[in-house]
Amino acid sequence: MALYDELVNIVGNKYCTDKDYICVSYSRGIDPCLPEITPQIVLRPESTVQVAEIIKIANKYKTPILPRGGGCGLMGGSKPISEETILLDLTRMDKILDINEDTHTVTVQCGISWSRLNAVLLDKGYYTGNMGPGSGLTASIGGGLSHHSGGGGGCAKYGKCTEHCVGLEVVLGTGEIITLGSQESKFIENPFIRFAFGPDLMGIFLGDNGIMGVKTQATLNIFRRPPYYSGKTFYIEDDSYEKSQQIVLDMMKLGWSKELGIYDFFFYPPPSVMGITTDGLIESWGDIKGGVIFYVHEAFDEQVLERTSDVLEGIAKKHSTRELGPSPEEGNITDWFYAEQGHWQIYHNLFSMMGPDYFVATTEFIYPIAKYPEMLYKLDKWEEDHHEELFDADAESGVGQVYMLNHNCCYFGTGINATSDEDLKEDVIKLWKEQFEFILKEGGVLYMCGQIGSHVIIDSRVYSDEYYNFFKGVKEVTDPNHIISPGKFRF
Ligand SMILES: Cc1cc2nc3c(=O)[nH]c(=O)nc-3n(C[C@H](O)[C@H](O)[C@H](O)COP(=O)(O)OP(=O)(O)OC[C@H]3O[C@@H](n4cnc5c(N)ncnc54)[C@H](O)[C@@H]3O)c2cc1C
Repeated sequence: MALYDELVNIVGNKYCTDKDYICVSYSRGIDPCLPEITPQIVLRPESTVQVAEIIKIANKYKTPILPRGGGCGLMGGSKPISEETILLDLTRMDKILDINEDTHTVTVQCGISWSRLNAVLLDKGYYTGNMGPGSGLTASIGGGLSHHSGGGGGCAKYGKCTEHCVGLEVVLGTGEIITLGSQESKFIENPFIRFAFGPDLMGIFLGDNGIMGVKTQATLNIFRRPPYYSGKTFYIEDDSYEKSQQIVLDMMKLGWSKELGIYDFFFYPPPSVMGITTDGLIESWGDIKGGVIFYVHEAFDEQVLERTSDVLEGIAKKHSTRELGPSPEEGNITDWFYAEQGHWQIYHNLFSMMGPDYFVATTEFIYPIAKYPEMLYKLDKWEEDHHEELFDADAESGVGQVYMLNHNCCYFGTGINATSDEDLKEDVIKLWKEQFEFILKEGGVLYMCGQIGSHVIIDSRVYSDEYYNFFKGVKEVTDPNHIISPGKFRF
């Protein structure tokens, strides 16, 4: 086959395959609702030049290409939608190219995972601030930048991972290679600022869900990790939606991450806590039935840490029922979360605990902190209104957690848990889409879209016609033959 032979010539026999038993493993993702379609060829390039050559061949044969990092997208982003697909597994492009202590940046190939990158940085006393998504043990920098990811630590202080991308190398759908940020200048070797030389065209490729090109190299800000941290966990028996928000708002009045050094702040609503205690996941929580909050804050000075600890504790105590802690044995989960990288372990464990008989169709989204209790009530009401349909589909809906993103946003870990019963799948997909549409119409913001979320965005007519036409026009420029990631956003 001519296409196959030309691709082998680029990456070599070892890294190009059309063998079923390998290709079939790339038909899967964590979203078992979507069909599993096996790509015709899987490639594992090692360099930007190889990626560019592959894309040129794909154009010649008009064959779609799908970039894939860790394959942890929850909405069908890195699963093929046609058997014609050439799947581009980028995880071999996992080199750290430069840790630059002058510019406080790190430059990597985009297939490296968040955990491997941060393990190296932490040894040198740095971290990426936002540590990528909760799937960071597997998920790649390229996947995170394609989704505006967060959740793997540091969101309250550093926001989304895309906020810290200062340099990007992309292979366009034509096979051309471009660099963005300060590297738009041929005279700048080491990127150090994103906003440069005119409009911010890097933004077109950030959060693009892999449709505008293939990200091959990225430069991220790095930060010195403060040597001191502390964290507390509190139980809120009643009115936990409002009281947890009040704690956040009171802390914000005093300066949130800048003055208080808050790194992360999580709220687990009562049904989620009940799930945790019923399954005995955190034994020390006993059989509590309300909500739980925890926060972690950092400082460069021990006395500053002690002072802020007291202030934060005072606020939390004012609005909560009792402290779960201070020790881990008494229910304080913050050491595990921060020092033992629990922020990456928790989700992997939760997903894998469900086993093959269950799955989660996630409808994660971002919302203003100012209105999160309202949204929690609306989602409760949605669940109530869909009680019968959920029951018939052998499914449950709920919010796993709300965590703070930066000074005005929070993230909702929402979704529908269902049994993997093939006969009920259609019903679950229908509910999944309905919940998405509901969230969008209530003003929720999707950051990871994949196939499913991006279709609901278009079908719910979220965009104005003018915006959608503009968006389509940009796609025409970056990828005129629609070779990369077809189908998303109904392109
Ligand atoms: C256990 C678990 C926990 C999770 N927790 C979070 C969380 O806390 N926060 C969060 O945001 N998400 C979370 N996710 C979702 C997902 O893992 C993340 O969004 C993650 O960033 C995806 O990275 P990945 O490398 O696995 O990307 P993939 O799934 O491989 O790809 C995601 C998308 O990016 C594109 N893509 C990947 N690499 C490139 C590249 N180099 N160039 C161009 N396009 C590319 C793909 O085509 C696809 O559209 C979680 C998923 C799981 C399974």
